[in-house]
Amino acid sequence: MIFIAATHNENKIKEFDRILKPLGISVVSAEECGMKLPEVKETGKTFAENAELKARSACETTGRPCIADDSGLMVDALGGRPGVFSARYAGEGSTDEEKIEKLIIELKDTPDGERTAHFVCAICCCFPDGSKIEVEGKCDGSIGFAPRGTDGFGYDPIFFTEGNKTFAELSSNQKDAMSHRGNALRLLAEKLREKIKQ
Ligand code: IMP
Repeated sequence: MIFIAATHNENKIKEFDRILKPLGISVVSAEECGMKLPEVKETGKTFAENAELKARSACETTGRPCIADDSGLMVDALGGRPGVFSARYAGEGSTDEEKIEKLIIELKDTPDGERTAHFVCAICCCFPDGSKIEVEGKCDGSIGFAPRGTDGFGYDPIFFTEGNKTFAELSSNQKDAMSHRGNALRLLAEKLREKIKQ
């Protein structure tokens, strides 16, 4: 079965595809299927609302099963910010380096031990018959004082997890095994298995 990913983020498409492959599901971009998805404004107040907006719009456009995620970083000392604004935290179109820099500055007076944070990932799958599957995954960690590591994307170099390593110091498989997106995709795989059985 082919699912179209309602995202232009190549890293996310690769993560979706890697984890759903064992179910016989290939996740591809709309462009790979010769289609173009309309721009969707992320106006939801929650990750789940934004994921559904993107998946539903893509499904209505392509007539195929579509998968979308909305994810972000919630920092406890910042009252859960940047949250749903993670992509725009340092302004529209800001680079990952600018977002990380802003986070380091905002947390400069926050001591070790109070820098706890978690990544959240809401995934929504919409099907042409109007049905949907929604799941949410989480991953706990803390924010470092300086970026470390070269792999991954977004806030990975500043997010410390088990073993005092950042997400950017882990291999793809190591990240998948504990990440918010990995956890959400594993829940999704369980729900998809049930749906396929029916
Ligand atoms: P969106 O889900 O595409 O709206 O993006 C949310 C933002 O959260 C992105 O700009 C990323 O910087 C950040 N983000 C989401 N997932 C991850 C991740 O696995 N690692 C690092 N940053 C992430």
